[in-house]
Amino acid sequence: MVYQADPARYQTMEFRRCGRSGLKLPAVSLGLWHNFGDATLVDNSRQLLRRAFDLGITHFDLANNYGPPPGSAEHNFGRIFKEDFLPYRDELIISSKAGYTMWDGPYGDWGSRKYLISSLDQSLKRMGLEYVDIFYHHRPDPETPLQETMRALDHLVRQGKALYVGLSNYPAALAREAIDILNDLGTPCLIHQPKYSMFERWVEAELLDVLQEKGVGSIAFSPLAGGQLTDRYLNGIPSDSRAASGSRFLNPDQLTDEKLAKVRKLNELAQQRGQKLSQMALAWVLRDDKVTSVLIGASKTSQIEDAVGMLANRHFSAEECAAIDAILS
Ligand code: NDP
Repeated sequence: MVYQADPARYQTMEFRRCGRSGLKLPAVSLGLWHNFGDATLVDNSRQLLRRAFDLGITHFDLANNYGPPPGSAEHNFGRIFKEDFLPYRDELIISSKAGYTMWDGPYGDWGSRKYLISSLDQSLKRMGLEYVDIFYHHRPDPETPLQETMRALDHLVRQGKALYVGLSNYPAALAREAIDILNDLGTPCLIHQPKYSMFERWVEAELLDVLQEKGVGSIAFSPLAGGQLTDRYLNGIPSDSRAASGSRFLNPDQLTDEKLAKVRKLNELAQQRGQKLSQMALAWVLRDDKVTSVLIGASKTSQIEDAVGMLANRHFSAEECAAIDAILS
């Protein structure tokens, strides 16, 4: 059936300015790292994208290597985009990235000009797009001069293949340096994409302050710690969960008794707030205005509904923040 977006899609979503740029992002964005590769039925992926957009999620985040196999998430997204979302292109912020291993040989990884420019060309072809809205350098490259990587990003914007550029997984000092280079080149850095959740708080030490000072937005990836900060694992490991899938990023060994005890306490606190743990975990990441958006993953449309439902209750009292800190400490 031809997809027609819900006319009410902009009624509940909150849009937040990304740093000091002109762009606003939805408070909740959807990532295509899992559940969009060839191992997932394309119809399930399609339902996820449709539900997200119907709820006001205008930002879909990809990378060259998302799959498996690498490239297949972009390819499958391209097919769904063409069939469902073409009329809505100007309502969408689509991002991609390069920085991890993508193809054999010395030009399919890290941060050279050769890799970044070839990779974005490939991504555009796979997705059937003329441009991406945001193109990221996915991780720092200890060997390539930062100037070269940033010049490649600047070049891609000047070519019209990306509207904005971003950094991902850059530590604070290197992010500062990269942002300064991009400013000098005349292509300001729009956004940084770090990992940030109740279980992973490194950004609080310095990075978020650097970004605020420089007027750069941020989008927190894995804000649910891959599903650990939800009720998913409270009663064992469901067979359809990420932890049961053989993922090297979330395996049963990570779900220690100590961690599950914390999750149970957090779950009780969420219940006292009248929301699900997943909702409290997302609201908590957004408690700081320096975070522009939470970048979730989903295997079911109900998970996207949960995430957007969080917006109805996303403020914390000082006592609640202290209680969360005590549980996490
Ligand atoms: P999350 O921490 O949001 O984990 C998502 C998983 O949590 C889902 O797949 C689902 O797992 C579970 N989940 C979500 N909502 C609920 C709910 N309401 N109830 C129960 N379980 C729930 O994020 P991801 O780790 O998936 O990462 C999100 C995005 O971040 C990626 O798609 C990608 O775009 C980006 N990313 C970027 C990286 C980078 O280096 N820049 C690295 C990693 C991710 P299940 O499958 O078990 O249902």
